[in-house]
Amino acid sequence: MEPLARETIAQRVQSVLSAIRSAAEKAGRRPESIRLVAATKTVTVDGIREGIAAGLSILGENRVQEALPKVEALAQAPVRWHFIGHLQRRKVRSVVGMFELIHSVDSLELAQEIDRRAGDAGQSQDILLEVNIGGETTKGGFHPDGLVQLVSTMAALSHIRIKGLMAIPPPTAEPESARTHFIRLRELAEAIAAQRIPGVVMEELSMGMSNEYEIAVQEGATLVRVGSAIFGARHA
Ligand SMILES: *Cc1c(COP(=O)(O)O)cnc(C)c1O
Repeated sequence: MEPLARETIAQRVQSVLSAIRSAAEKAGRRPESIRLVAATKTVTVDGIREGIAAGLSILGENRVQEALPKVEALAQAPVRWHFIGHLQRRKVRSVVGMFELIHSVDSLELAQEIDRRAGDAGQSQDILLEVNIGGETTKGGFHPDGLVQLVSTMAALSHIRIKGLMAIPPPTAEPESARTHFIRLRELAEAIAAQRIPGVVMEELSMGMSNEYEIAVQEGATLVRVGSAIFGARHA
């Protein structure tokens, strides 16, 4: 494969942003209600800078070791960082306060650890709960059944704020097959919201990646996490 031309990242940012806008308009949604999170794993700082110059404002990283030097190198850039990968409990201390939103809280124990570390730091951390929406045995995340109950338990943790749900549907070649999973995630968020649990707002739905973010937008995503459609295929 040929290396990407210098202007390609900028062009791809623009085409993803306009695809989000048109998917929103077709679905009768306000385009501003959807935010693009650029998934920057394996992308160099220079590549990220190019994306920022083209209009990216939220960057999503998967691994703490990879994220920390990037956050430092881009400290002056007008961007916010989100954490989107699996977070190990022993890494929580180094990420609390650094990320505007942690999308990938996948267990009660992790939520408790974030609450504890945020409390130590005198902060409050916004999080999403990652749901194993396809019921895959090989994947982490909360099982949809019983999540409503668990959210009530987590709502008592005073240094986290539960802002919504996140999911990665089972991989398939056919983007359209993600739709039922996106609908289920939205319905689950609605069921949780209907409980009116104090301190819990279901205002964010983080769903949709390069192959199916337009479908996710049609089904209610407020955050889409897009990597390869912006930065090209990953080799790592
Ligand atoms: C890598 C990644 C993405 C983006 O995937 P693409 O298919 O490259 O768009 C989104 N979400 C998570 C959690 C990821 O790890």
